[in-house]
Amino acid sequence: MKGPYKGKFKVTQEFKGSAHDGLDLVGLTDKKIYSTVNGTVERAGWENSQNKKQGFGLYVRIKQSDSVDRYYFGHLSEIAVKTGQTVKAGDLLGTEGSTGNSTGSHCHYCVRGNASKAEIKDVCAISGIPNKIGTYESSAQKNVSELAEEVIKGIWGNGEERRKKLSEAGYDPDTVQQEVNRLLGTKSNSTKKSVETVAKEVIAGKWGNGSERKQRLTAAGYDYNAVQQTVNRLLK
Ligand SMILES: [Zn+2]
Repeated sequence: MKGPYKGKFKVTQEFKGSAHDGLDLVGLTDKKIYSTVNGTVERAGWENSQNKKQGFGLYVRIKQSDSVDRYYFGHLSEIAVKTGQTVKAGDLLGTEGSTGNSTGSHCHYCVRGNASKAEIKDVCAISGIPNKIGTYESSAQKNVSELAEEVIKGIWGNGEERRKKLSEAGYDPDTVQQEVNRLLGTKSNSTKKSVETVAKEVIAGKWGNGSERKQRLTAAGYDYNAVQQTVNRLLK
C-alpha cells in the first residue's frame, strides 16, 4: 500500500465519497508527508490565506504525470515544496498539521480527477489503504534514488522477479528501472547497447569485475551470461 507516510499511520476517518472525499490519516512513526505519485506540484500553500481555518488549510496538490488526477495532502503544518516543482513518489512534501477545517493533527488525503470536487476518486482503491479505521504501514517507504541504489546492489533480485518484488512493495518497476539506467549511464531498454558493445566495455574495464560486474550488468538489463560468453569469445 502507498501511504503518504513512511512507517506506521492510522486511518482515523474513512472515505465516504462526497460525504468525506478522502481518508484522514495520522502519522505514528513520523509526521512527515511524502508524495505518493510522480507528478508536478500545482498548489503549495493556503487554500485561503485570508481564512486559515478554511478547507484544506495549508496544503499540497500534485498533478500526476500523464493523468488528469490530482492528489491532495491537506491540513499541513508546513510545506517543503514549491508550485511548479516536479516530484517523485517518496519525495518529502511537508509535515502533518491541523490547519484549515480541522480539529486535530491529521492529513486529509484525497484524489480528484481534473482537480474537481465533481470527480472524486476512490483513494482507497488507488492507494491500497483499507477503508477501515485502524493502524497500517506504508510499504513504499523509499524514494526512487534509494531504490535504484538498492537494485544496483542486487537487493531486489533481477528480471521478472525484481519487477514482481518492487510492484508488491508498492513501487513502480519502470520508474525504478529508468533511475537505475540513468545512474548506470545507460539509456532506456529500447536503446540498449548490443551485447558485443557491452562485452567490449567489460574488456575495457567499464563494468568492474566479478560479482560487482555481474550485478551492474543485470541491473542495467543485460544478460550477464551472454555478455560473458561474448567477452570470452573476443578474448580468445
Ligand atoms: Zn478529512
